Amino acid sequence: MTTTPVDFATHAQALDEADPLRDFPGRFLGSDDPEIVAYLDGNSLGRPVKASADRLANFVTEMWGGRLIRGWDEQWFDLPVTIGERIGTAVLGAAPGQTTIGDSTTVLLYKIARGALALRQGRTEIVLDRDNFPTDRYLLEAIAGELGLTLRWIEPEFTGGVTAQDVAAVVSERTALVVLSHVAYRSGYLLDAQAICAVTHDAGALLLLDLCHSAGAVEIELDSWAVDFAVGCTYKYLNGGPGAPAFAYVRAEHLADFTQPIWGWMGRESPFEMAQGYVPAEGIRRVISGTPAIIGMLPIQDMLDLIEEAGMPAVREKSVALTEFALELVQEWLVPLGVTVSSPTDSARRGGHVTIDHPEFRDVTARLWQRGIIPDFRRPHGIRIGLSPLSTTYAEVLAGVAAIRDELGKH
Ligand SMILES: *Cc1c(COP(=O)(O)O)cnc(C)c1O
Repeated sequence: MTTTPVDFATHAQALDEADPLRDFPGRFLGSDDPEIVAYLDGNSLGRPVKASADRLANFVTEMWGGRLIRGWDEQWFDLPVTIGERIGTAVLGAAPGQTTIGDSTTVLLYKIARGALALRQGRTEIVLDRDNFPTDRYLLEAIAGELGLTLRWIEPEFTGGVTAQDVAAVVSERTALVVLSHVAYRSGYLLDAQAICAVTHDAGALLLLDLCHSAGAVEIELDSWAVDFAVGCTYKYLNGGPGAPAFAYVRAEHLADFTQPIWGWMGRESPFEMAQGYVPAEGIRRVISGTPAIIGMLPIQDMLDLIEEAGMPAVREKSVALTEFALELVQEWLVPLGVTVSSPTDSARRGGHVTIDHPEFRDVTARLWQRGIIPDFRRPHGIRIGLSPLSTTYAEVLAGVAAIRDELGKH
């Protein structure tokens, strides 16, 4: 049976009408902007929640302008840990006291990786993979250089990612730390974190997960999976805005012995005593270094309001349905034009985005942006269709894939 484009349009409309989360897209800024036909890059930069505009304006006039330095005592000092705790509870499957925000993902990855390695002194190897995000690879190269450690590289398949068997094949009594992305930024592969954690622990090593492409898109259970450490962005599926501070998770059992290498005054016990000598603060505050970016962390709270209201199981369900619909359209319209699918076809192993490849996609992406169809391009020649579950409609997916088909047909 062949399906006509008209059927797909009707289907998209029916999916949007039946969507239990259909009220959410309208709560994001830009959702009624006619120039943005389809925003398909929520996995790089989430849209602003409408409530964030007022929150930011009020902060400047009421809090910063009105409370001035008193704001630190009244609210700001605790904010990184308060927001961290909400991220932990609503998104990470982490009990309170293990999550904070601050710095960028890059800086937190460095701090947490160094802190983790200090807990496995005498071991000489770090396990990582060739398909991880550049920052993760570069940082670990730098750390290996600093500490004289060896990097053990896994080479995942182009359309897949790192499996528990891949990890089992390279870990040993020499492994100190395994660093992997929960969802691969390019292929969208969702790794089996629990199985990989078990394999890592069997070798006596520690696991640091990068959650940039999974937090807010897939269900995460850091506590029950026994993950040791995690870091992740808040400006992707957590809609914190460009450069919003990242989050870090340190498992409770490691906290007492954990020290990170950037010894700033804000991560010291009793920082306002200005005392001699660094003593790490109790608990997760020890991950903090200097004065945290308070303004930058405000909008995350509005997205957390939405995620808490919807619940991560419903968010994930919508995410899977969106990527399934995208793949259905790709199969019907783009595969006949020579497009290949570079993401897992099994939704259980796929995160919140779908990557497709075609030699012309660099040019096609530039033309799509001019038309208000906004996915992103990833080399060598991939378009990533990023489907932020709470802000994306099925109609946008339809418009986006149809536009790719039209642009490919022109040349
Ligand atoms: C987006 C992303 C980063 C970004 O790090 P920044 O310090 O925020 O630039 C890091 N790792 C992964 C896997 C990402 O997807």
